[in-house]
Amino acid sequence: MEAAISIETINALVAMVCVAAFFVAASSVRRWRRQRTFGGICCSELEDKPQNRFKRVLADNSYSPFKHFKQEGKEKEISLRMHPFADEIASLLEQPPLTTFMTNHEYSDMSNSYVWIDTEHQLDLLAGLLSKERVFAVDTEQHSLRSFLGFTALMQISTQKEDYVIDTIALHDSMGILRSVFADSSICKVFHGADNDVLWLQRDFHIYVVNMFDTAKACEILSKPQKSLAYLLETYCGVSTDKTLQREDWRLRPLSAEMIEYARNDVHYLLYIADCLVSELKRKPPASPDDKLNFFFEASHRSNMVCMQLYAKEVESTPGASASASILSRNLNIEGITSWRRLEMKDLIWILCAWRDLMARIHDESLRYVLSDHAIAALAVKAPKSPTEIYDIILHVDISNGLNAHPALPSPSPIAKNHVEDLCFLLQEMNANVDDSETCWIYASDGRLLCYCDRRKLEWYVQRDLARIVEDDPPAIMLLFEPKGRPEDEDNEFYIQSKKNMCVGCGEKSHYIRYRIIPSCYRMHFPEHLKSHRSHDIVLLCVDCHEVAHSAAEKYKKKVAQEFGIPLFVQKIVNLGESTVATVASTSVNLTEETGVSPLQLRTAAMALLRHGSNMPSGRLEELMQIVKTYFGRQEISAEDLEAALLVGMSPHERRRFEKKRGLSIRHNEQNIIYKNDTSSIVQTAEDNDKNGSMYVAEESSEYKFKYTDSGQRSLSNASTIVTSSASLLDHNASVANSIQILDRVQEIEQENVSNMNEGNKNENPSDEARRNLIPSMSEVASSGTTKKVSLLGHGPHGKQVVEHLLCKYGEDGIQQFCQRWRKVFVDAIHPRFLPYGWDIMHSGRRDFGEYSVYSPAKRAVQEANDLD
Ligand code: AMP
Ligand code: MN
Ligand code: ZN
Repeated sequence: MEAAISIETINALVAMVCVAAFFVAASSVRRWRRQRTFGGICCSELEDKPQNRFKRVLADNSYSPFKHFKQEGKEKEISLRMHPFADEIASLLEQPPLTTFMTNHEYSDMSNSYVWIDTEHQLDLLAGLLSKERVFAVDTEQHSLRSFLGFTALMQISTQKEDYVIDTIALHDSMGILRSVFADSSICKVFHGADNDVLWLQRDFHIYVVNMFDTAKACEILSKPQKSLAYLLETYCGVSTDKTLQREDWRLRPLSAEMIEYARNDVHYLLYIADCLVSELKRKPPASPDDKLNFFFEASHRSNMVCMQLYAKEVESTPGASASASILSRNLNIEGITSWRRLEMKDLIWILCAWRDLMARIHDESLRYVLSDHAIAALAVKAPKSPTEIYDIILHVDISNGLNAHPALPSPSPIAKNHVEDLCFLLQEMNANVDDSETCWIYASDGRLLCYCDRRKLEWYVQRDLARIVEDDPPAIMLLFEPKGRPEDEDNEFYIQSKKNMCVGCGEKSHYIRYRIIPSCYRMHFPEHLKSHRSHDIVLLCVDCHEVAHSAAEKYKKKVAQEFGIPLFVQKIVNLGESTVATVASTSVNLTEETGVSPLQLRTAAMALLRHGSNMPSGRLEELMQIVKTYFGRQEISAEDLEAALLVGMSPHERRRFEKKRGLSIRHNEQNIIYKNDTSSIVQTAEDNDKNGSMYVAEESSEYKFKYTDSGQRSLSNASTIVTSSASLLDHNASVANSIQILDRVQEIEQENVSNMNEGNKNENPSDEARRNLIPSMSEVASSGTTKKVSLLGHGPHGKQVVEHLLCKYGEDGIQQFCQRWRKVFVDAIHPRFLPYGWDIMHSGRRDFGEYSVYSPAKRAVQEANDLD
């Protein structure tokens, strides 16, 4: 089976899920039927979530970094990662203001009166009042279940005279009104445990706290037995609180009297408590007479250090990576489970986490709302095959963990229900992968194990009566001819000395899996004859050794990326009418935002627009449209463009596999992917394609013919309907109809443009011309087999550039040396003790069975005709 899942595979699968999900929505007939079975249309499409009414969303669910506030006049000097009030806070850190929080050293019990603020006018008045205060207390309540990043649902402010409760949902777009009082360093803001509040205020409102006193920090310095607010309320004010209310749904309106009381409690006594703590800090005797430490200074210093923090979105190398790591660590110790199965589960968990991450972003839901960690683990263990099974497993595991107790947390979630087909597809896809990449064995006629191969090669020998099957599991054949030049006859040649199979690292015999020493993202781009030394660079490793080798390889990939100046992921892509230009080279760092978008960003945006555009708040809609517009380099975006954007980055190979699985048709109108640093073929592709992209279709259909007739699964006529545009009209129209709703809402787009779009694209404008000049020429290999497998979302484009660079600069020797470096990485990571005799880092010779070899040039034509991939 295939080793630990690669990032490419994950991305490819996530990509397929996206497209799968999109087509469920696109075909109204299919959609209706499906929902009959699983009830309800996509919940978040109908449900009125309060955040849908936010006009300004500072932190969106995309992968793009959070943009911090820029003070007027300071735009130029402030870099992205700098606190906009760094100078102000820095001076407070040096010289804290001496503050007396209350004048009368008393507090009033909480009365029934407080001020509820939910209009902009009231907020203006409050800002005016607060600007005259020297100190006020603040707390916020968050909502995080039905939102990906969470949002501030309530803000409580207390002065010596009054409690204010601000409806930060109703006033979400106006909260900037309070920015200046929070940034005013002459006004002290008292919080209890402000670490999160400070970041939440930045995230939602660009509010930055300057001059803060955190009562929790004071507790730390005073070595209080506890530093919770409940403790302070109890000991200083004799007030007991029920902290369980903290987890209430703070989106509720009107808030219950109980919740209001809880919320006010959190701030009402803070000024008094702060005052007591300040006095204690000032009275606290130093540890030794020489100790000049000013404890109040220290508390103030620590508080303002909290203000210095900057909100940032979490970044992961792969979507869902951290969640999958934690689920793995909690669930993979199941007893009696084989290592093979363990590895398979690991892959599934990873895939499911990636899916969940994507769904949560698109629907603006928390991860746990979409699918619980327990459910992911259970799905990975049971690997269900049908929607009903999936449905049952999720419900069962959530009930047994008490997770569906709350009506706000239905199980399975509407997201899981409505996308259960996608889940099914993912789980099946994984199983298929496992079958595809079975390791087979080739024995010589005297029973000596010669090498490993895949099933295709095994069948090649069997069909020609050159070998007979000797074992089924794992599949093994024995050659019926004497291979020319046994490995052991030759100097420095590879062979396997023992019939016993074991981990080449530690000698483990009970389980082992195939490991590729040269990562596939490079190897797939090697010239065909260099790929042939498979058996030398594919070894068996136990699961533990495998992990070590894999992580060393991933680390080394990063080194390669740095050394060659070729990033692991495509940085930016831009559309030039008929083709997509991907920038992989490091020069892309200089590209401004206007010249491209990341493929992942583009896909997420297009997907969200197609599925949920009609229900999106206009601000979010505009932001997402901007990403698509940036990609196409123009202001008008049609429904077709959105569809096309969805397919960008998926390799033709991936799309075909997807279509084959689904029996769906996709209209291919572009997808000539050209890498910057590549090539000359742009002009040619633009000329060759007529406006309907029929050349592409023709090329595709011949492939289909071959593919389907050969496998015997489909008739020829079926094959051709897959690619003719008339056959795809139904689906296509459905999706256009879907997207028209979106178009209605985007004012700049005129309906007529939709039908004229293709015509319009043909006319080259000067900016297209200018962009083309960005691209140096070299020979494009767009027609080669490997390009069809490259997804823009994985490491494939990186591998392609590295290999082309090596070939160009050093020829095949460059590739040989590159392979040697990878073998050294492997040896250094594993210190293998059981490598076959003759295995060598410097290996370069050919593995050859003589004239019957599948690698023999005379046979290569035959082999290629049989090589379906
Ligand atoms: P507090 O600082 O106690 O006012 O809490 C502010 C917000 O943080 C609450 O509205 C909750 O959304 C969130 N929060 C804090 N602690 C927890 C917890 N233990 N469980 C869930 N949410 C919490
Ligand atoms: Mn609170
Ligand atoms: Zn091992």
